Amino acid sequence: MLSESIILSSWQALLAEGFKSPDALLDYLGISPESAGMSELAHQDFRTKVPKGFADKMKPGDPDDPLLKQVLPVVDETADIGGYTEDPLSEALANPVKGLLHKYHGRVLLTLAEGCAINCRYCFRRHFDYKHNVSGRTGLPAMLEYIRADETIKEVILSGGDPLLLRDELLKETITAIETIETVKILRIHTRMPIVLPERVTPELVSILAHSRLKVVIVVHCNHPRELDHAIAVRVGHLRSQGIHVLNQTVLLRGVNDNPAILCELSESLFEAGILPYYLHMLDKVKGAQHFDLPAEKALLLYQEMRKKLPGYLLPRLVREIPGEVSKIPLGQ
Ligand SMILES: *Cc1c(COP(=O)(O)O)cnc(C)c1O
Ligand code: SF4
Repeated sequence: MLSESIILSSWQALLAEGFKSPDALLDYLGISPESAGMSELAHQDFRTKVPKGFADKMKPGDPDDPLLKQVLPVVDETADIGGYTEDPLSEALANPVKGLLHKYHGRVLLTLAEGCAINCRYCFRRHFDYKHNVSGRTGLPAMLEYIRADETIKEVILSGGDPLLLRDELLKETITAIETIETVKILRIHTRMPIVLPERVTPELVSILAHSRLKVVIVVHCNHPRELDHAIAVRVGHLRSQGIHVLNQTVLLRGVNDNPAILCELSESLFEAGILPYYLHMLDKVKGAQHFDLPAEKALLLYQEMRKKLPGYLLPRLVREIPGEVSKIPLGQ
């Protein structure tokens, strides 16, 4: 037991051991920087960060690997194309308290952690100024005051930076504080960690979530069936055995998953791992990610193919986010 608890509490060590430079990652995979279109400039703009376990799912020698493409800084990012901006969702407009976003009825989103376990090149927050927008623990009282003052808020969402980067104690403190607001019923956690570093889902974490009076929903983020494995399914099983719902969101990415067969396989593999598909997002038009974008017509064709093949409960909702709208906007309904 003792040795197991030592192994299980080492997710922070695993995180620290991850790749932090594109050269080291490519060297590990036996791929030349030229063949992969690697760019040091893009890396300087948004630092490379990849847990080793995620890199181990990439195919050595393949510069087009769909997992590698999600994390490798490339020359395409540095092209300056009109229409792609640093704050594509105009989030600054819906930011009444530092670290809190209130865009949609009944739900607020908190950004508590500075950064993520992995840096995804297509991330709409790749230019997000965490230092000035994330107040962490010191900002919590102001966020709680805001939530307490608005009884229409039923759900608190912890989101990116990845909230599971927080230590258990801080997470527990935060959840306990949210629980004191009676009108809040649901705690949602948006996190890529169960996919890219499943070791984070420790028995201690599961226990914290299981003992909350709030209904807990975890939304993971997986873009390709090759990201999934047995270790993930086991950890998801631990969450589900405590009544925690586990959903997935995917970003539609050119060159990674813009293929109906891959997306159908993703839905089926997610289900096998105990995860239900929730959203399939159109890319947010963030500067540096233009090469991942797909025209809406192509996305719709692809979605029609998925609809033909999948049972309704495995078909994610294809959505786009438009600043100022009251919800995410469905495509192809
Ligand atoms: C996406 C999002 C939500 C959650 O929307 P759902 O449609 O309920 O998943 C809430 N707040 C913000 C700011 C969001 O971007
Ligand atoms: S895990 Fe999510 S928030 Fe973090 S870099 Fe990737 S896409 Fe962005």
